[in-house]
Amino acid sequence: MTAHQPRTEPAKIPPNQRRTVRRQLLTWYDRHQRDLPWRRHSNNAYAQWVAEVMLQQTRVDTVRDYYTRFMKRFPTIRALADAPHDAVLKHWEGLGYYRRVLNLHRAAQRLRDEKRAIPTTAAELHELPGLGDYTAAAIAAIAYGERKAAVDGNVARVIARLFGITEDVLSTRGKKTITTMAQELIPCKRPGDFNQAWMDLGSAVCTPRSPDCAACPLRRGCVAAATNRTGELPVRDGGRKSRAIPRVDLVSVIFVNDGRLLVRQRPKGGLWSGLWEFPTVERPGGGSDAQSIKTITKDSGLAGSHHPVRAGSIRHKLTHRDLRFEVYVAASDRETKNENGMKTRWATPAQLDRLSMSTAHRRIHDAVRGVLNNQ
Ligand code: SF4
Repeated sequence: MTAHQPRTEPAKIPPNQRRTVRRQLLTWYDRHQRDLPWRRHSNNAYAQWVAEVMLQQTRVDTVRDYYTRFMKRFPTIRALADAPHDAVLKHWEGLGYYRRVLNLHRAAQRLRDEKRAIPTTAAELHELPGLGDYTAAAIAAIAYGERKAAVDGNVARVIARLFGITEDVLSTRGKKTITTMAQELIPCKRPGDFNQAWMDLGSAVCTPRSPDCAACPLRRGCVAAATNRTGELPVRDGGRKSRAIPRVDLVSVIFVNDGRLLVRQRPKGGLWSGLWEFPTVERPGGGSDAQSIKTITKDSGLAGSHHPVRAGSIRHKLTHRDLRFEVYVAASDRETKNENGMKTRWATPAQLDRLSMSTAHRRIHDAVRGVLNNQ
């Protein structure tokens, strides 16, 4: 096999090529690594854990401020374990994917209750809630120096291009090939830096759409650069077009009583776990807003509320759902005790600001402020 011939089998990278890639990547990393707050605490497994969980599905620039605020309020895993979940959620508000923080909090509490320190190997870390292969490997390599490759989409892209992997990197076989190669490349010395170097290279140089091959430390041995196939690699999902995200129609009613708004707390574990929201139901296909409003009003025990006024619509896209909210405001002259088995409360706008809400419901609140001011 020549240096630039595409490979389709799980690789055995020759030792001299491994050494070259390690040297090139680490030398580049020493010069170009990003200054990130959690990198100033490489030996602190808790700091790496918080950062890696935040970085799942979220951009580095967004994570910086959240990480700093979170670590200031919960500087140790014990502080996190002892904090009320509402306080933890409040420091996550706006980051999305709230199951991440639920799992992080649960894992911290489990370690506290079992009187254990943070595990030091990827295999043990993997047994904690919310810690998948990538996150467990990243923490173990960065904080404890375990020779373990953390393989995410960035790493898969760089490796697929570098070695000309033509397998679908999202297939079981393709994932195995990439993971095997990544693991072969990891050095015994500085495995944490090496993992972070992949991450930085994938994020800053070998980007999905326009890789800057001229600035890449790996360009001399790169199959994709040599064969002008950076646009074709990596192969993802067999080249099929991604499926459309399903649309979900929802109706929300903001009940107003003496300047306070009715909110309810979502159960733990599902979408927007533990967050507060305005009463909302999914509108069934072919159903009307009026039917949905009736359901919400009945569930809220507020059947005597004034006729709801339409206050606007909000579109909020998640990775897996396209949410369309129709929003109504209704004056209510009575209290409610329960809403569909969920915890409920009436909150002033100032109190609402202190509660943890999803970005979608914050947007709903912002959109109806004008209507609320005229109530
Ligand atoms: S040379 Fe280009 S395609 Fe190859 S790894 Fe570097 S940036 Fe990516």
